[in-house]
Amino acid sequence: MTEPVRILVVGGGYVGMYAALYLQRELRRDEAHITVVDADSYMTYQPFLPEAAAGNVEPRHVVVPLRRVLGKCRILNGWVVSVDPVHRTVDLCPHGGPGRTLEYDLLIFAPGSVSRTLPVPGLAETGIGFKTLEEAIHLRNHVLGRLDLADSTTDAAVRARALTFVFVGAGFAGVEALAELEDMAHDACAYHPTVEPGDMRWFLVEATDRILPEVGPEMGRWTLEQLRGRGIDVRTRTRLRSAVGGHIELDDGTAFDADTLVWTAGVRPHPLVRASGLPLDGKDRVRATPRLTVEGFDDVFTAGDCAAVPDLTKPGELCAPNAQHAVRQARTLAGNVVATIRGRGLRPYRHAYAGSVAGLGLHQGVAQIYGHKVRGLPAWFLHRTYHLSRIPTLNKKVRVAVDWALALLFRRDIVSLGQFSRPREEFERAARVERAERRERAEQTAPG
Ligand SMILES: Cc1cc2nc3c(=O)[nH]c(=O)nc-3n(C[C@H](O)[C@H](O)[C@H](O)COP(=O)(O)OP(=O)(O)OC[C@H]3O[C@@H](n4cnc5c(N)ncnc54)[C@H](O)[C@@H]3O)c2cc1C
Repeated sequence: MTEPVRILVVGGGYVGMYAALYLQRELRRDEAHITVVDADSYMTYQPFLPEAAAGNVEPRHVVVPLRRVLGKCRILNGWVVSVDPVHRTVDLCPHGGPGRTLEYDLLIFAPGSVSRTLPVPGLAETGIGFKTLEEAIHLRNHVLGRLDLADSTTDAAVRARALTFVFVGAGFAGVEALAELEDMAHDACAYHPTVEPGDMRWFLVEATDRILPEVGPEMGRWTLEQLRGRGIDVRTRTRLRSAVGGHIELDDGTAFDADTLVWTAGVRPHPLVRASGLPLDGKDRVRATPRLTVEGFDDVFTAGDCAAVPDLTKPGELCAPNAQHAVRQARTLAGNVVATIRGRGLRPYRHAYAGSVAGLGLHQGVAQIYGHKVRGLPAWFLHRTYHLSRIPTLNKKVRVAVDWALALLFRRDIVSLGQFSRPREEFERAARVERAERRERAEQTAPG
């Protein structure tokens, strides 16, 4: 009897999780052992991050626990630091203790992407991305915290700085995050007596001449007018020149201070890709064949944001890094893994981009699907129903739907839990004060 094939999945995001879901359903235990490795114990449903940041959806409800949904797989958590595709090994650093080497027969390589930054002075020190749940939660607390500060200070400069919010990059993530957070802050002003919505300044800075290219030029223009109508200062053909110490300088000559700088100017393949020993293209993406194997390695499969996958519907072009492709590629990829194990032929990946939907805050949205343009309330409804149908597991669907239903009945929660990012601060302060008190008492009772 032959040994079960060892399948190793690096990255439990869209590609990794959906591929593993398919494989655990298709393959018998005596056919394959599946191990999924991810830095986190959950998959993040990124399209819901803007809603989580705005408090419309509970943050825990936009993540899917890998150990629960992948019950027939072995889940390991930690950072994969290198891949050796020749000796078929992967080096893993768990979040504590010594590292370990994992062996595989078939590898699914899907570490996704990270924010693509530029060498703008001050950006790394003052900016924040919008790709993870941690960033979304931090931004929610931070924005609400700035309103609390503005309402409490008597210093005009501190107040102006606190009420200035800058987003750089007007793709999906930037536009949705800004629109949702501005909408939340607008509502929150009602509870800050000295802060009017008009006191806040929201900037969207974009280097090209259009925003939200994912929904086409006409809907992009409509979105631009919509955002400007809400008082958001959208600057196209403009770049961030400097952000040192929170002093923002744009290349159109504008300069001001801001406490909030969100960088959403695109993504690049995860740095692990460069340490993978796999063939890369000029943009550091893994070179994939149309069958989603890696060029030159029949035992390594790849897809998603980290991979250069040929778009067979547009010869000469590559598939864009988005969830629409990632989910469908995961299905084709997993089918080809099963085909490899069972000695069948592999299928090429082919999917014509269907269009996009984006939420722009409560009751506002924009969409272009199969050429149909939708805007306003119907687009917002489409955005919600589409993503509700897509988020994995019935459990999460119900929880998200309940969150939305409660948001219709009750007012939005506008409390800033700023201490969440510094949970030990209060305890350290208490210990410091006690230490000082003990020293003081000892000095008072010391003889002489
Ligand atoms: C705010 C936001 C909104 C979006 N909205 C949409 C949308 O509406 N529609 C759409 O089509 N797309 C959208 N996208 C894009 C979409 O989410 C991505 O294209 C998709 O997640 C890519 O899937 P992936 O599997 O390649 O990567 P990911 O889903 O990012 O998964 C990669 C996984 O690999 C893990 N990992 C990375 N490196 C390591 C390592 N060294 N060791 C261990 N684990 C590692 C990560 O923890 C992660 O879990 C959005 C993205 C963002 C940020």
